[in-house]
Amino acid sequence: MNNQPGQGSGYPNTGNAGGTYVQPPRQDTEYICADCYAKNEIKSREPIRCRECGHRIVYKKRTKRMVQFEAR
Ligand SMILES: [Zn+2]
Repeated sequence: MNNQPGQGSGYPNTGNAGGTYVQPPRQDTEYICADCYAKNEIKSREPIRCRECGHRIVYKKRTKRMVQFEAR
């Protein structure tokens, strides 16, 4: 179940790889994967998908209500 074709699964979560990358203030929205409950910071332009397991159903974390997103 881990080896899905395409990018995304097994994405190395290395913070600073030796660059001066300045993160935008708070453009990201935090999502919680519905499958493995990993925290994902997904920008509005990025596809909603768990970076840990590739699951496409995530919960929005910021809102008080648990909103479920299901993307194809
Ligand atoms: Zn996941």
